[in-house]
Amino acid sequence: MAVKDPVRIEQLHWTDYDARIREHQPPIFLPVGALEQHGPHLPMNCDELIPREISEEVARRVGGLVAPSLSYGYKSQPRTGGGNHFSGTTSLSAEALTASVRDIIAELARHGARRVVVMDGHCENTMFIIEGIDLALSQLSRDGVTDMKVLRIGYYEFTSKETEEIVWPDGFPSWPLEHAGVMETSVMLHLRPDLVDMSKIPTDVPARFPPYDVYPVSFENLPNLPRSGALSSAKLATAEKGKLMFDEYVAGIVDAVSSEFL
Ligand SMILES: [Zn+2]
Repeated sequence: MAVKDPVRIEQLHWTDYDARIREHQPPIFLPVGALEQHGPHLPMNCDELIPREISEEVARRVGGLVAPSLSYGYKSQPRTGGGNHFSGTTSLSAEALTASVRDIIAELARHGARRVVVMDGHCENTMFIIEGIDLALSQLSRDGVTDMKVLRIGYYEFTSKETEEIVWPDGFPSWPLEHAGVMETSVMLHLRPDLVDMSKIPTDVPARFPPYDVYPVSFENLPNLPRSGALSSAKLATAEKGKLMFDEYVAGIVDAVSSEFL
């Protein structure tokens, strides 16, 4: 039988949640992901699963709580996620994502929460999350709430130079090209090896793009976009590298949240 997880808001009784907010002012984590193809070897929820697992581990260590994730994100772009034309990739408009982030932060504030961490797992989301945070804070300050503080974290920005050299001994490609690459595949091998099929790692990589965007997005307009959907090779991925990165992200984010909030 599954065990109740005391950091997950949706598993709490509202009275316990209410008491924790009022008595301890816990940081509340909101993972924001995507339902997006991640090559033929990874599941489509990587961008939701990884920031949620990181949020849960950080929340356990800092006395925080984790809200249910936003499981859909902004439209996949070719140079960062393959593009929105792949089957399975299911995206929100900018308006829908921005409004969802804004509304959830405003609701948390209504409960009395004043410390929120938006944990982003999908780089196309960034500006729309920022817009949602900005709109929520403007609305709250008009309503007289001026002590809300929000952090926006892209967990992969906590990768140290030393880890980068261990994980990519031949040189780090770039975060956009890492879509379904070594980092995400390694972290998934650490967290959920049952969802990874290493026998399907694509060979049609790395992607090569011109230094500009072309619309409409299609394979015809992007002849060097890998048909597999992965943008670089995950051949060097291992569960050990995944554990190294996961632990580094958790430790770095525990420090950041502690110094900002505790
Ligand atoms: Zn991803």
